[in-house]
Amino acid sequence: MKTKTKAVLRGLGASGRREGITVKSSRELDRMREAGRITGETLAALSEAIAPGVTTRELDALAEREIRARGAVPAFKGYRGFPASLCISVNDEIVHGIPGRRRIKEGDVVGMDLGAVVDGLYGDSAVTVAVGEVGCGAREQMETGRAALFAGIAQARAGNRVGDVSNAVEQEILRRGPYGIVRGYTGHGIGTQLHEEPSIPNFGPGGRGAALRPGMAIAIEPMVNFGGDDTAVLDDGWTVVTSDGTVSVHYEHTIIITEGDPIITTRVGE
Ligand code: MG
Ligand code: MG
Repeated sequence: MKTKTKAVLRGLGASGRREGITVKSSRELDRMREAGRITGETLAALSEAIAPGVTTRELDALAEREIRARGAVPAFKGYRGFPASLCISVNDEIVHGIPGRRRIKEGDVVGMDLGAVVDGLYGDSAVTVAVGEVGCGAREQMETGRAALFAGIAQARAGNRVGDVSNAVEQEILRRGPYGIVRGYTGHGIGTQLHEEPSIPNFGPGGRGAALRPGMAIAIEPMVNFGGDDTAVLDDGWTVVTSDGTVSVHYEHTIIITEGDPIITTRVGE
């Protein structure tokens, strides 16, 4: 799950315990790594389970089961009133899709976004899965989203600025084709809250924004549309879709900034 605007972020800060960009203690970082691992393992289980005929509600139930079986709590359930543990966004849905009776079918491009909390510390990750044979260009679009995420992660280093991450994401997408880069939703700081400062846009100039320091944690999450970048929100008040009806993909990892290479808390395997 991602933040909508800076105003939302500020609101969270006002209601939460902390303001500004936080540097986590080593104990907090340990719990973030645990929350990240559980988030990643649960997404892997969901990617295994997804198949034609399964309902999005069944996938949500599996997500909650897997998270709780590992001793964590679903981060999204009840967050600002969100009714489920899993955001599941199919085809032209970009983010924040609500699980329900919909059945997954062959050819769907399914984004799954998930968070887990361990002792008050968060993990947040998203992956997009192709169900069987998908439409023309969808595999390349997915590869673009994944590559953009890892281009951003490569810049998530002490001494760099938020803009360096944003710019790397944008350039990787532009290099791979004419896609729509979603601008109204961004990545974010993460730690004792799901959404903390700073916001991490998926576009913009390098060399600007907050400096990254060891012990900070951020969620980087490019959203890449096959068509234009314009978005709309459905009547359910949550589901964000592409205005032109084209497919969107979404990838996200939670990252800890270190003195050296970034730690990807939500990555499993590889
Ligand atoms: Mg997320
Ligand atoms: Mg997020």
